[in-house]
Amino acid sequence: DREVGNATVEDLLTWSRTGETEANTPAYKGLEAYRARGGYSVWEQVKSGALSADDVIDKLSDAGLRGLGGAGFPTGKKWSFVRGYEGPRLMTINGDEGEPGTFKDRYYLERNPHAMFEGALIGAHVVEAEKCYVYMRDEYPAVLNILRDEIAALEAAGIAPKGFFELRRGAGAYICGEESAMLESIEGKRGLPRHRPPYIAEVGLFSRPTLNNNVETLYWVPTILERGADWFASQGKEGHPGMRSWSVSGRVRNPGVIVAPAGVTVRELIDLAGGMADGHAFKAYLPGGASGGILPADKGDVPLDFGGELAELGSFVGSHAVVIFSDQDNIKDVALNLMDFFTHESCGQCTPCRGGTEKMGKLLRSDGPLDEDTIRDLEQVMRDASICGLGQAAPNPVNHLLAHFREDL
Ligand code: SF4
Repeated sequence: DREVGNATVEDLLTWSRTGETEANTPAYKGLEAYRARGGYSVWEQVKSGALSADDVIDKLSDAGLRGLGGAGFPTGKKWSFVRGYEGPRLMTINGDEGEPGTFKDRYYLERNPHAMFEGALIGAHVVEAEKCYVYMRDEYPAVLNILRDEIAALEAAGIAPKGFFELRRGAGAYICGEESAMLESIEGKRGLPRHRPPYIAEVGLFSRPTLNNNVETLYWVPTILERGADWFASQGKEGHPGMRSWSVSGRVRNPGVIVAPAGVTVRELIDLAGGMADGHAFKAYLPGGASGGILPADKGDVPLDFGGELAELGSFVGSHAVVIFSDQDNIKDVALNLMDFFTHESCGQCTPCRGGTEKMGKLLRSDGPLDEDTIRDLEQVMRDASICGLGQAAPNPVNHLLAHFREDL
């Protein structure tokens, strides 16, 4: 509802990461409405054994479904890994959705939360998880209300055993979207990322093998099992199986969630979002929220997907948050805003990230010519020696600023 044409860079990036303070619960599809349209029929097939755990894993693998929280790990493979470790096992759903510009999980949770719950029941059954923790960011008060009510409805209907789904609220820390920090938070500790290995599939929540999936990943599971792996895979572009939900914001006419093929380009997404806002010409974009860096318009025909050409540009699609900037935006302002965000959100446990993010901001703000040698050196240290993805990816916007937007320095 906001006027994107007249906003500042600060406004655009702040809106893209601000939640609500009051619950304003929208009309959504509750349990009865979901069941009336055939909801939970796939779960019934899995529970009865008509669809075996191996069948489920094979179908998800054939469909090309990948983790849509940002890492893009193949879902079928993840489920089979977790199942391979000795139980008892647990499951978590990551609803922290803190990547700037990302709001697609919220979109589904505020409209059709049971698709995620059905996917979660199927996942928990396949890996034989005893319990599923739903970790939801506190900035989504309406979603928290919906989940509370719908977990109660699932229990009352006998679809989920009492206490099987446990809702946990985040407390506003971006780093708690990092899966191992999220597990620490669920365990009641500070959300500090863990060293890996061991990976959480082997030693996860309360030291048990843990299946962790993003909201949207689980959302697609019942549909894939119902309509078939081929159907889902064929929705993508050549060489990019499947479809994704893109959070598109910034200087476009109609910001919002757009379901589009994997491998779509940013120019196509801008068209789907109604074109550029009046008076704005496309100049740059964030392909994957704050962490995926900033690419120029002349890289606007690169297929957006995990790996591939995007990776060659030192970028990634992550949680599929695409933020568009125009000729009226200074990209140094964008890079500084993102670096300040990382500085604020660094958990502080390792020096390359805690000190590096702050120093990078100071170097960019210093008077006189940029000390590019020190910036490059710092960038390398942060990439090589940070414990988790926050510190490793934080230099991306600055790296791209130097590579593609020198006129804005
Ligand atoms: Fe914490 Fe940053 Fe180190 Fe990650 S890289 S563990 S956020 S200090």
